[in-house]
Amino acid sequence: MKLTDNFNLKEMIQSQTALRNGIDNTPSSEHIENLKLLCENILQPLRDDYNLPLVITSGYRSKKLAGLVGSKITSQHCSGCAADFTIPSVDNKKVFKHIIENLPFDQAILEYYTEDNGGWIHVSYVPNGRGQALTKDKEGYKAWQ
Ligand SMILES: [Zn+2]
Repeated sequence: MKLTDNFNLKEMIQSQTALRNGIDNTPSSEHIENLKLLCENILQPLRDDYNLPLVITSGYRSKKLAGLVGSKITSQHCSGCAADFTIPSVDNKKVFKHIIENLPFDQAILEYYTEDNGGWIHVSYVPNGRGQALTKDKEGYKAWQ
């Protein structure tokens, strides 16, 4: 199922952990709607701005999957509102700043970023979102300055 021009449902729900553990990671129709809004408002605009593919490392998480990957069931991944991704050939800090300056995000987190490993970006979308920008590393969350 296509969600936007360059994003499909499959990449938003695929999980090696779910496959390995035989977990059904199928979202409800409401959660699919949320994934679509995330693609329409954040991920597709990024894809278009950079003209480069995004690699989704974690999108939707069913409650069972959340348990296995150590994520809270209140995580926005569990409602289809959030995804983790990288654009492999672009520095994630640049992409993160681009989101903050240009897109109607709810929460953006630059996770475990160093110049060497690049980390990844967590981003969520809900209508009229908070626009909350954070960094996260082994010491926890900090507000982005
Ligand atoms: Zn995440």
